Parts: sequence; C-alpha cells; structure tokens
Amino acid sequence: MKTFSVTEFRKQFPILQTVSDSDNIIYFDNAATSQKPLVVVNASQHFYLKNNANVHRASHFLSAKATKSFEVVRAKALKLINANFENEIIWTKGTTDAINLVAQSYGLNFIKSTDEIVISAGEHHANIVPWQHVAQQTGATLVILPVDDNGVIDLNAAQKLITNKCKFLAVNHISNVIGKINPVKELIALAKQYKATTLIDGAQAIAHLHVDVQELDCDFYVFSAHKMYGPTGVGVLYGKQAILQSMPPYQFGGEMIKKVSFNGTSYNELPHKFEAGTPNIVGVIGLGACLDIFSDEQFTSMTHYEQQLNHYLYQQLNNIEQVQFLYQGCPDIPVFSFVLSGFHHQDVATFLDSKGIAVRAGHHCAMPLLESLGLNGSIRVSLAAYNTFNEVDVFIKQLQALCLGEL
Ligand code: PLP
Repeated sequence: MKTFSVTEFRKQFPILQTVSDSDNIIYFDNAATSQKPLVVVNASQHFYLKNNANVHRASHFLSAKATKSFEVVRAKALKLINANFENEIIWTKGTTDAINLVAQSYGLNFIKSTDEIVISAGEHHANIVPWQHVAQQTGATLVILPVDDNGVIDLNAAQKLITNKCKFLAVNHISNVIGKINPVKELIALAKQYKATTLIDGAQAIAHLHVDVQELDCDFYVFSAHKMYGPTGVGVLYGKQAILQSMPPYQFGGEMIKKVSFNGTSYNELPHKFEAGTPNIVGVIGLGACLDIFSDEQFTSMTHYEQQLNHYLYQQLNNIEQVQFLYQGCPDIPVFSFVLSGFHHQDVATFLDSKGIAVRAGHHCAMPLLESLGLNGSIRVSLAAYNTFNEVDVFIKQLQALCLGEL
C-alpha cells in the first residue's frame, strides 16, 4: 500500500494555512462540510474561464465540450460506488435533495396507508422529516429502530420491528453524531425479505468507506459532494434502474422532457427525467476533479491514516475525566460527540474557537437522538484526512486547560 503523506495532502488545501504557519486554523468540523482542494477550485475556475456553456442543449462547440466534461463525471461516480449503469446516477443538490426526490416521487406514489416506513433513532433530520411528510400525506406509519448502547442500529430490535408491513427502509450508513457504521447490509437483507424498498443515507460514509451499492443491494444510495472534499450544491442519488424507471418525475420543466405539447407532454429517459432545469454544471465538474483523489490506492492509504488519527483522538479524549461520550466505544470514523461535564457545549466550542479550533456544538441536526439521551446539545469533533496528530495534541491541550481552569 502506498503510504499517505498528510504533508503533501495538506498542500492541496490553502485554507488550512490562511493565518500563518504557526497559527493555522485547526478545522475539526468536517462532518458538516470538508475543505476544498486546489484541484476542485482549479477545475471550477477553468470551467468558467475556458468552457462555460449550458449542457445538453446547443450544437456549438462550447456546449459540446461542457456536456462532455459534465457527463464524464457520471462514469466516475458510477465507479466510485460500483453502480451498474450510468443512468442510475442522478445529480441532485445534495443528500437532502436526493432523499426528498425519493420521498416525493417514490414515497407519495407507492406508499399506502397500511404500509410502514422504517427509519432509525439515529437519523439526520434530512432522513426523518421527508418521511414524516410522506407518512402524513399517505397515512402510513413511521417505525423507529432504536440504537444500542454503542450507538449502532439494534439488529435484534430491527428483526422484530421490520415486518411484512414494511414498505420502505431508510437508514444512515454512518450517523453524523455517533460515527459508527450501521449494519446496513443486514438491515437491507431484512427489509428485502418483505420486498421493501431500501435507501441508505451515505452522507457521512462516502468520504471514509469503500461503498459498493451492488454488494449492499440497496435500492437507493445518496450522498453530498461537499462532505467528500467536493463543491457545495451537488450530490448523488443512486437508484436501481428499474425502480427509477418506474418512478414519476420529481420536478418538471426543461431537460426532463422528451416532447412538450399542449396536447400532452412526454418525459425524458433516465437520468434526465430527474434532472429538471439547468444543473449545477460547475459543481458536477468540481466533483469530478475531486473524485480523482478517490482512486483505490490513494483512498485505501488515506482511510488507513484516518483510522490511526481516529484511535489516537479516542485515546486522548478518554484520558480527560470530564469527557463523557454519547455512546460507548471508539467510533468507526473520526466523528466524536461528547459533553464536557461542568461546561455548556456552546461555551466549549466558543472557547476552542478563540484558540483557532473549529468544532460543532448543538444538536447536529439529530434532535430526536440528542433528546433520547436527555441532552439539548453536545460537542462534535470530526476529522478529515488532512488533519494531523499535532492538531489533535493542540486540541487536547486546550481542552485540558479548559477543564483545569488554566485559561
Ligand atoms: N444525512 C447525514 C447523515 C448528514 O450528516 C447530513 C449532513 O450533515 C445530511 C444527511 C444532509 O446533507 P446535506 O446538507 O448535504 O443535504
């Protein structure tokens, strides 16, 4: 395995060196969004400076070039998650948009009042609220799978709660609060026994795991580019071709049509049927540039390094008496949520911010999970492959100083 050089990788991220060499920002809020490498910034700039035109429309050469650079990324996304066909990759605005697409198009049309929609207690609001809406509109029942003491969706409970009433299962691959990998393969297999349709929210998993949608056998897999070093405002909905073909369009207008007439309009083929209007062309192109980072070899060595950082941070946090993790055990990816006894989570984040360390404080868009623990917020520290052991040491030192009152 090629060794991963964090020093080299960091050079791709000028924002990490914005202040000065001795006083750089320590960015530990990667679960919210990651920083963007030069390859992404340069690809976006290059497109606007040299290649800007709309896609799929005009016959002029700029448009043909733009369409080619845009469509090439679909093949890269297919490879990333091992989809079967390019038309199974639908561009969306992000994970939230992708889940809403499925909820509106599949949920409102195929879910009935006698059906159950199964989600988990550890979902991000993006994978709760769209299903609450579908349940309200259709009369279906929302069933919540509990998470166990380790913060993982409880498979034993799932075996009881997923029944022949289950029409749709929508769960996260990795929670944005807990950082543990859920047994999604087993959950999908369980749901399939009852012919239920399945969606995996991969927003947190995609930057840290090799995802293989054929191996998982999920019907839908969704993620956002901005959490994997890519641009904001673009994401992927993967769906099995046959299911996507059976679904009605989500939004209507240009691009998603084959023929428009006042006597009746026919819709385009996949993937365009679900891509109404001008897409986020530069976003997709930026994502394409960033996917080159995810070559198999680079990705394996990067995630290996992340695992070392993960275990180191876990050990160091464990040494601070006041740190109380939300769940037992080391997370599977470097996403740590904890409270610091004696301190309000917001005060901790403000203190760390004053030392140049960016962390997240609050409910992390998972209010039901936090409420189930009797909390209205926690501190979340989430790392990426450009973070260093030295940054962890600085962070731990500041946390210790805060606990000891050495301010
Ligand atoms: N699902 C999970 C697990 C997330 O962590 C997030 C964002 O934090 C989302 C969904 C929503 O992603 P986006 O805001 O990119 O649509």
